[in-house]
Amino acid sequence: MADQILIKNGTVVTMNDAGEVFFGGSVLLDGDRIADVGPAGEVAARQPPGGPVQVIDAAGMAVLPGLVDLHYHTALGKGWSDHRPLWEYLETCWYPIIRALDDDAAYWAALASYTESIRCGVTTVNDMYRRLDALAAAAEQVGIRAVLSSDVADDEHDLDTLADNQRAYRNNHGKAGGRIEVSVGIEWLPLASQGLLRDAAALAGELGTGIHIHLNESLTEVENAKQRFGRRPTEVAYDCGILGPATIAAHCVWLSDTEIALMRETGTQISHNPVSNAKLGNGVARVPEMLNAGLNVGLGHDAAECNNSRDLFEVMKAASLMHRATRVDASLQQAPDVVKMATRNGSAALGHQGGQLAAGHKADVILIDLHSQMFTPLMPGNADHLFSHLVFAANGSCVDTTIIDGQIVMQDRQLTTIDEPTVLHQANQAFRRVLDKMIVPGQGR
Ligand SMILES: [Zn+2]
Repeated sequence: MADQILIKNGTVVTMNDAGEVFFGGSVLLDGDRIADVGPAGEVAARQPPGGPVQVIDAAGMAVLPGLVDLHYHTALGKGWSDHRPLWEYLETCWYPIIRALDDDAAYWAALASYTESIRCGVTTVNDMYRRLDALAAAAEQVGIRAVLSSDVADDEHDLDTLADNQRAYRNNHGKAGGRIEVSVGIEWLPLASQGLLRDAAALAGELGTGIHIHLNESLTEVENAKQRFGRRPTEVAYDCGILGPATIAAHCVWLSDTEIALMRETGTQISHNPVSNAKLGNGVARVPEMLNAGLNVGLGHDAAECNNSRDLFEVMKAASLMHRATRVDASLQQAPDVVKMATRNGSAALGHQGGQLAAGHKADVILIDLHSQMFTPLMPGNADHLFSHLVFAANGSCVDTTIIDGQIVMQDRQLTTIDEPTVLHQANQAFRRVLDKMIVPGQGR
């Protein structure tokens, strides 16, 4: 890792409190932090003699904070048997695959997943999956910032236990200079008793870490909660102490007004995952109401099994279009606000000092090549034009360089930390091996 990296002469989209965009700007990275941001001349004038070790000329590039994928699963079985609705898909494909997972498969699946994310400008993933030791090893190697959580459910479902999650915390929390963290994961309420939810909240409190849970994803989940607990999912989570500012609640599609108020009261963080919700036929979350209530809403792709890409640019576009279409209102989800969801909001949700280009913040930075059809035409000096392209015209292939924690993990679209063909080959092999081992309930192997 170079001690200092100067990214100069780019269009610097800071996403800072003032919403500043510097045309002909520079960003100076010092170790794992951003040291200076501003017009190139000013940054150069403030620089001490000697200069940085490495200089990146960002002329013709936009420089942004790295994207935060707030609801994420490492994925092994993209596109496999994915024609089913959520509950049926979980029972016949997702759970059987992750029950048959071994460490080696988890490692290669994570490397392949994180590689695609880095390619699309994602610098942080909030990843709920199994075999976290293997995931942490993959995250450490490829260089991504990862918050990992286990897939905890009641024992009879043969997924992870809170003891597994606690062990994973002990083994991995704070690894790679703090780049890897472990929080407590809960699969979802249909696989959880109230006792498990209370124990999960207690464990998170004891460890001083966050919670990651699927909540209010589908109407079937809402009905399940009403039948088993006599209340809606968010009311159950509230009563069991699951909600709070360190909790990421993923989906939240079918929130009642009361549930939105509970999210507000507890300061719970929301991950909006519009592509997954659409693909699985789960509906459209009430994001305008959530934002009006003052909730912090970030964006997630969910999993390549239900997306089917990890491109957060696609998610940004859907996070605008879906609400405009269903409310018949083109004023909703304007481009700068959507970019904020994918950067600042996600970072804040995880309690990270990132998501914006400002001195003292984490050195998670992406460079976007503006020399393409995606960014043509582009009016010089016009930030609104650029924001529009970022949300409505671009996809992840516009990302040229990804820097995480001050380390260049992709440059000129080449991964620097791994051999990508090997990763893809091994992920393919792992998928076939796990399919051979997996047992579908009622069908045998
Ligand atoms: Zn999910």
